[in-house]
Amino acid sequence: MEYKTVTLPANKSIALVAHDNKKQDLLDWCEKHRTMLSAHKLYATGTTGAIIEKHTGLPIVKLISGPLGGDQQVGSLITEGEVDFLIFFWDPFEPMPHDPDVKALLRIAAVWNIPVACNQVSADFMVASPLFAGEVERSIPDYERYMNARANL
Ligand code: PGA
Repeated sequence: MEYKTVTLPANKSIALVAHDNKKQDLLDWCEKHRTMLSAHKLYATGTTGAIIEKHTGLPIVKLISGPLGGDQQVGSLITEGEVDFLIFFWDPFEPMPHDPDVKALLRIAAVWNIPVACNQVSADFMVASPLFAGEVERSIPDYERYMNARANL
């Protein structure tokens, strides 16, 4: 795969997703970091977004609920460059009806090289990093070169 460099901007688009047993953790985390989060564009899967918006007042673009396709919507936004940071508190103890979507979302986040936090402490570390407040270079697949090479097969 050929890569190119893009800029992860200071004003980020952050997707928030939490499985049911992790929603309180994510809500607590959002309340703790409310001021910081208010400087960024926020997306969330349906239920996660409704709960966080209700309790924090933060404006959130609410996608479809996860089991109905919301995780795939987040993945789609990552491929389009609309989401550049993922906070996904997934539940390591419960099998989910949408486990394939969960795996697909984590894979797409790895493909497009975006930061992913899977629990409160990793999210705390990430937002405390001096990198978080500024612009950061990140490499992503060079889609144009990828397609040119494939079209010439
Ligand atoms: P929800 O979806 O926010 O609609 O609960 C999250 C998920 O289960 O992936």
